[in-house]
Amino acid sequence: MGLIVQKFGGTSVANAEKIRVAARRAIRAQQDGNQVVMVVSAMGHQTDHLVDLAKQITDAPSGREMDMLLSTGEQVSVALMAMAIHSLGAEAVSLTGAQIGIRTDSSHTKARIQSISTERMRKLLEDGKIVIAAGFQGIDEDFNITTLGRGGSDTTAVALAAVLNADACEIYTDVDGVFTTDPRLLAEARKMDHISHDEILELASLGAGVMHSRSIEFGKKFNVPIHVRNSQSFSDEPGTVIGSESESADRAVSGAALTKNEAQITIAGVPDHPGTSYTVFSKLADVNVAVDMIVQNAGAEGQADISFTVLEDDLPKALAVSKQAAAELGAEAVLHDAGVSKVSIVGLGMATQSGVADRMFRALSDEEINIEAITTSEIKVSVLVKRDQALAALRAVHDEFELDRPPETRLCYGEGGLATGRPDAVAIVARLQRMEDLTIESVSLDETQAQMTLFDVPDHPGISARIFEAVASNGILVDMIVQSIGRDDLADISFTVPRTSLENARQILKELSNELGGEVKDVHAVAILTVKGIGIRSHTGVGLRMFKALAEAKINVEMVSTSEVRVNVVVGANEGQTGLTALKKAFEDVLA
Ligand code: ADP
Ligand code: ASP
Ligand code: MG
Repeated sequence: MGLIVQKFGGTSVANAEKIRVAARRAIRAQQDGNQVVMVVSAMGHQTDHLVDLAKQITDAPSGREMDMLLSTGEQVSVALMAMAIHSLGAEAVSLTGAQIGIRTDSSHTKARIQSISTERMRKLLEDGKIVIAAGFQGIDEDFNITTLGRGGSDTTAVALAAVLNADACEIYTDVDGVFTTDPRLLAEARKMDHISHDEILELASLGAGVMHSRSIEFGKKFNVPIHVRNSQSFSDEPGTVIGSESESADRAVSGAALTKNEAQITIAGVPDHPGTSYTVFSKLADVNVAVDMIVQNAGAEGQADISFTVLEDDLPKALAVSKQAAAELGAEAVLHDAGVSKVSIVGLGMATQSGVADRMFRALSDEEINIEAITTSEIKVSVLVKRDQALAALRAVHDEFELDRPPETRLCYGEGGLATGRPDAVAIVARLQRMEDLTIESVSLDETQAQMTLFDVPDHPGISARIFEAVASNGILVDMIVQSIGRDDLADISFTVPRTSLENARQILKELSNELGGEVKDVHAVAILTVKGIGIRSHTGVGLRMFKALAEAKINVEMVSTSEVRVNVVVGANEGQTGLTALKKAFEDVLA
């Protein structure tokens, strides 16, 4: 007999009829011989209404009371779902997070799961009941109700599937699966049959709201097969399988995403010495602001600009502490722009192909869209654009990489298919006392790279496209790219290339600078330190720990790039070993 977890999102339980449709689906799965656990979200927009109500009472509700309030939405829907199942003649029991024993930490409104007890669920399942679990909620050590953050029912579902060692976790939602980009933004978006954990992890955190990104961390850590499907389709459409296969065998890019409401801050003219990044980002962490893109270029004349983006809602808080940090560090100025959006491309194929980033830059420049900033990592490129051009930018990159066209082949990067190679989840849970804790896979050092910077290039459409086309057409593989947020209509572009290509790249850049303007500087060998793992971005402390450890070792950070699965920092060529030792020590307690 199999065990299936079925999760139904808000729109899939928005009214009585939809609740009945979901109930029938669960009963059918049970009749097919499976034990069934349902995870249910609050009905329709109920959680938004509750948030709204709280706002009408106060601007600053306590986290504890917010969670008390928000958790009621799911409590309503699990009870109704149980009634629906009863009325259809099957047996079911609804349970709150507390009744299941979903233990979390105490960080209200964004709590992390620490453990889940399976006893009660197992017993009910063995008695032939369908278990209906309230999504998005748990309790802390002192029995306070907590919630996991907006969209968190996905995480409840995948976590339950992990601890119950379920055969599948089905996510029922209001679209047919995971699309190449949000189908509500672009009509030409195409449903993917397969996507890898790493790709959806990046996409989810870059704006693809279809899955809560922390649920994918569980999926990856515990190797849970996840199927995303449309709850309203009557035929059993296959949806999208999130697992070890990806579409990106014959293409570099598999999806694109948009984060609409970002704001950017630049702390300009920061003295370039060890510890500055740590000062800035620890202050932001202290006031609970999650930093998104970090764009730090190699500094000119002993000065650096530290730029980053935050969600627009966090701008006032972030600006206040940035000004404090700037004063402490003796920086020149703090600049900001509230009206930007981030457009990203993601694909496993990118890690092994050159000439991907420049195609993105060219597609944007053809639409006269200026790139305000760039960051890259192994499997993604993100650019910042003005918000009124965001949709056009998304469309341009979706077209450029022909994402509407189905791929011819699929890449399987895992060992075996979904069914094999599955770790014993229960054993892992037993080992990992806290399920959602940060897991660091490796800390590594790359001593093959060099970097260079083109300072003060005009900040207008087409410049980065020119540079990276020229570099790619000479067969030079560019690893990290960082383009600073422009100042006085000038921007700095730094990137890394293999040391063996350094002279060649310098020559290309020199010729380009004659034509485009700007000055090539800071051409030298570097060391790249990388921390890789699961939950890198959602555990905001990772970057901070790195900056702290490097600052204590008196190592200056020259460039930074972050993604869901890794943080890279560029340091001086002869500081690699010292940095590696410092980082290994800093992550000792979480190294797998
Ligand atoms: P649920 O209530 O079922 O959890 P959500 O609203 O959280 O549903 O997620 C589904 C929505 O995610 C879709 O309606 C779609 O607009 C949006 N979305 C964003 N990016 C993507 C994508 N790449 N693929 C599919 N849907 C996406
Ligand atoms: N109801 C919660 C929310 O709207 C959790 C969820 O639906 O996943 O965020
Ligand atoms: Mg959701």
